[in-house]
Amino acid sequence: MKKNILIVPGDGIGQEVTVVGQKVLEKIAARFGHEFIFDHALMGHAAIEATGNPLPDETLAKMRATDAILFGAVGHPKYDNDPHAKVRPEQGLLRMRKELGLYANLRPIKLFDELLGASSIKPEILKGADILFFRELTGDVYFGKRERLDDGNTAYDTMIYSRYEVERIARKAFDAAMTRGKKLMSVDKANVLESSRLWREVVQDIAKEYPEVTVSHQFVDSAAMLLIKNPRDFDVVVTGNLFGDILTDEASQIAGSMGMLASASVGDSVGVYEPIHGSGHDITGMGVANPMASVLSVALLLEISFGLKTEAEAVIEAVDKVLKAGYRTRDIADATTPANMILGTEAVGEKTLEFL
Ligand code: NAD
Repeated sequence: MKKNILIVPGDGIGQEVTVVGQKVLEKIAARFGHEFIFDHALMGHAAIEATGNPLPDETLAKMRATDAILFGAVGHPKYDNDPHAKVRPEQGLLRMRKELGLYANLRPIKLFDELLGASSIKPEILKGADILFFRELTGDVYFGKRERLDDGNTAYDTMIYSRYEVERIARKAFDAAMTRGKKLMSVDKANVLESSRLWREVVQDIAKEYPEVTVSHQFVDSAAMLLIKNPRDFDVVVTGNLFGDILTDEASQIAGSMGMLASASVGDSVGVYEPIHGSGHDITGMGVANPMASVLSVALLLEISFGLKTEAEAVIEAVDKVLKAGYRTRDIADATTPANMILGTEAVGEKTLEFL
């Protein structure tokens, strides 16, 4: 198979982990006889520095022309503490999602058995947890009208959803539920929010097309509690942009670390594959970032965009073997990990390639 892949490292540890992701893709191409042609593009703070724009036209044009995108993360401390900055790295991220029609963000949460001890949740509660989140990605308060009023002391954001937006993400989630445990939980705040009442109504309508799927509806506060209390009860979860953002970071603790969680953003055209973590200001340049989320994003890319299931499984198996062999990055090491088994980004990448 011959495919074009655009690498968009972004900022901070995004730049460090995507190097490993690309090497894994190169290895897969060599092992399975594919030809992957790589190109690179700037985004986020790196793009602002070079062009003044967090998503330059050249990057967007390359994104539209490629077969799949491996993305790192964007963000820089300079903007986090400056609420008045007019140009921000995250604007590039939101615009990319809108321009490419990436309305569905898939976040599989699965704990590798070897990491049972790395989570702050008790192993007996965690073992066997396997959740697939569908977070809506191009609506909600992230894209609704927002304003700071003239007096400077009042501001608002608008939580807004339309029927078609809920329908298309709900269908994707129901389709996935049919291939898994046939259980779907829809998360909203329908006791308070009108947009959530529409969300619930639409999910109930779509549910009629999937009589085999058992559907439940949870308010987001209760879902947040249940996720920690009984993660094994979850199968597929579908929710809006804001609730999904928060719940999936919470769920990352089920997988042991943000550094273990991959995501796929798909929709109308090209797919974007990225770790769920950000640019990791506190560890940028230290060479300690866990690259496994980027490597697992590669597995999602191979399976979802290219239909290469065997290759995707080989990648996941390689990560599993690294863990089984006892190698850890700092974020997933625990008190029992010998110091010589705690490796940096590059070394864990090398081990992954060896097992591949
Ligand atoms: P973060 O995900 O960057 O980091 C949160 C914590 O997890 C940090 O302590 C970090 O060291 C740790 N961590 C994250 N990824 C790790 C990895 N691979 N290995 C080891 N440890 C890891 O979130 P944050 O600190 O809230 O945000 C930092 C910046 O990233 C901000 O500018 C934010 O806006 C941006 N951000 C970007 C994205 C994205 O590009 N998709 C997502 C989230 C945050």
